Amino acid sequence: MKYFVPKEFKMGKEVVFDKMDTTFLKLLDELRELVGEPLIVNSSYRNKLYNKAVGGSENSLHLKGKAVDLRCNNGTLRAKIVKHALNLGLSCGVYNTWVHVDNREFQILYVG
Ligand SMILES: [Zn+2]
Repeated sequence: MKYFVPKEFKMGKEVVFDKMDTTFLKLLDELRELVGEPLIVNSSYRNKLYNKAVGGSENSLHLKGKAVDLRCNNGTLRAKIVKHALNLGLSCGVYNTWVHVDNREFQILYVG
């Protein structure tokens, strides 16, 4: 990857980079390139137990390593992330302080 390093992908304190889907990681790197500023990964791969503990949905793409939550506190960055992610074919869930980005078969955009 050009922009991200393995330790940025954590489940709690555990580095879970090797559990991430490689196609998704490639797209995430492209997203970072297009956005043109650092992206902070709040959440990436989660196992079932962890996903439940943080209130993730049962069929969350986080369980497959095909999703990340990117920290985002301002509207300009949020708009950039969503625009470029959608252009790359990724799906987005927009929240107040983060944007959920995943790679699913049928693209969606939602506000959480
Ligand atoms: Zn998420």
